[in-house]
Amino acid sequence: MLDRTDDISIATENWLAQFESALATSDENLLESLFHPESHWRDVLALSWNIQTINGAAAILREMPAQARRAVPCGFSIDPDRATPRKVTRASTSTIEAIFKFETAQGRGSGILRLIPDADDGNILKAWTLLTALEELKGFEEQVGIARPRGQAYSRDFRGPNWLDLRKAAAEYADRDPTVLVIGGGQSGLCIAARLKQLQVDTLIVDREARIGDNWRNRYHALTLHNQVQVNHLPYMLFPPNWPTYIPKDKLANWFEAYVDSMELNFWTGTEFEGGSYDENEERWTVVLRRADGSKRTMHPRHVVMATGVSGIPNQPDIPGLKKFGGTVLHSSQYTDGEEWKGKKALVIGTGNSGHDVAQDLHSSGAQVTLVQRSSTLVVSIEPSAQLVYAPYNEGTLEDNDLIATSMPLPVARKSHQSVTEVSKELDKDLLDGLRRKGFKLDFGEDNTGWQFKYLSRGGGYYFNVGCSDLIANGGIGLVQFSDIEGFVTDGARIKSGETLPADLIVHASRRSDRAGDRLPAPGRAGPQTVRRESRRSHRPDLGIRRGPGAAQHVCADGPARPLVHRRRPRAVPHQLEISRAADQGRRGRIVAACRACNED
Ligand SMILES: Cc1cc2nc3c(=O)[nH]c(=O)nc-3n(C[C@H](O)[C@H](O)[C@H](O)COP(=O)(O)OP(=O)(O)OC[C@H]3O[C@@H](n4cnc5c(N)ncnc54)[C@H](O)[C@@H]3O)c2cc1C
Repeated sequence: MLDRTDDISIATENWLAQFESALATSDENLLESLFHPESHWRDVLALSWNIQTINGAAAILREMPAQARRAVPCGFSIDPDRATPRKVTRASTSTIEAIFKFETAQGRGSGILRLIPDADDGNILKAWTLLTALEELKGFEEQVGIARPRGQAYSRDFRGPNWLDLRKAAAEYADRDPTVLVIGGGQSGLCIAARLKQLQVDTLIVDREARIGDNWRNRYHALTLHNQVQVNHLPYMLFPPNWPTYIPKDKLANWFEAYVDSMELNFWTGTEFEGGSYDENEERWTVVLRRADGSKRTMHPRHVVMATGVSGIPNQPDIPGLKKFGGTVLHSSQYTDGEEWKGKKALVIGTGNSGHDVAQDLHSSGAQVTLVQRSSTLVVSIEPSAQLVYAPYNEGTLEDNDLIATSMPLPVARKSHQSVTEVSKELDKDLLDGLRRKGFKLDFGEDNTGWQFKYLSRGGGYYFNVGCSDLIANGGIGLVQFSDIEGFVTDGARIKSGETLPADLIVHASRRSDRAGDRLPAPGRAGPQTVRRESRRSHRPDLGIRRGPGAAQHVCADGPARPLVHRRRPRAVPHQLEISRAADQGRRGRIVAACRACNED
């Protein structure tokens, strides 16, 4: 394959020019000659108004011409403001990767082209993966940079309300309802609201917590983020360069407060969303909100975004016989720190991140801890293994990295993660052997796809080792299989062998669930107005929300926005908020479009 940068750029330009020509002239033979038989096309709203991946050249050729006739894409060229076309390895495949820009009749987009030689056709460079992503709608550009708000309303009228007066009035919603109601003010809610703000869509965030950031503040004492600062940014306002690699929970919580203020987001704290329904005729929602003082407010937003998280609701499994236990039973969400358990005995049921962290916290506070394993668990050391999937984020710009992550089709991403998992296993060999020796049951995800696919498919089932695995391996923390427990007695757990494992405290660290979306029923009919509750979390902590038709399209967060998605096809000229969902990725849902997991080996 080509080695010189000039040659790589020329090859890219040639491909883009032929691609544009093939689409413009509906030349299907030319189009066919441009795609490798095993190619993938991901479209994020640009041509299809959907988030979809088409796998295989034959399927691409069936789908693309019709979409192109409607969207009229043109102006394909290498984007000079992005990383220059280069040779990289993705999913163990050496490829030329180029970021390009283009336009459609309605918007402007960015894309990524990856070229590989077709061995069956004279090694001609053909598209292996192609991403076409809508960035903005013409006429609905974000108010940033030279298009920033000029503040005429408060900077020129000296007798009128000033900026603060206007901010207060805007956030009060005394005589109006928002166009978009965002339920939940964690990363996902903040990101989507910040993007909507730039698009001048009147948006209100409500959260039941008393203070912005309490969703993090109220988590256990020792918590810091498990992924690094560079993959956790919020849009427009990046974390300062002197911030620690792993952000402590309270620091993140305080940043959220600053973010809401800086981004001028309308945010009602202490406000619980109780439920709502959609009126097909009025094309609006009726939702009931309970304020901190117990009063209720009914609102009629055009759109509702459920950003209520995936970890919000503690999952308390009904463990037979546990009622017989006479000590304290807590869910990990209720656990704060281990001080009061010094010198006591604790059982922690569950071997995900929370279970391990709680066990380690109790141990470090002087408690005698036994971890109870219910099912096999994936263990990776927090560094370097757990961070390998984020490798591309360690260099280049955030915008480029987000686009690269978005561009990866599921089959390619799976392959990439399998390679990363193999590397992790080797790096963590001693640790994993030590755990095996203690009887810890390990797994590496479905088809060895690793922790991030476990996160996507079930929202947990792994531990990033920050020391607890070492404690298990060296006997500092005990380990018992749940299947070896016969039942519970007043002073602990009765093991099948006959002995009793004494305990003063039992902590459930079972996977949490997200059921808040159930409070918003789907409108009565299927079709374009279907409302869905995302069944699985997304996996990107960061939070890039891509721009698109009338507003936010998808939220990328390591768990992030869990919208109930009110999906509606834009009309001829999109004039209202559209929040789309990938329809093509099954359980991964729309988030796949922004998969940060899909990275370099
Ligand atoms: C202990 C723990 C550690 C974690 N560590 C990491 C990590 O290191 N890195 C990472 O990327 N992710 C981590 N996660 C996952 C993390 O929860 C998500 O990444 C992130 O918080 C998701 O953001 P979100 O905005 O989608 O949801 P959340 O942060 O959960 O926010 C949802 C918000 O919705 C509000 N809400 C819910 N229901 C209602 C309602 N009915 N009315 C009003 N408000 C409501 C809640 O109060 C909450 O503020 C962790 C999770 C837990 C539990």
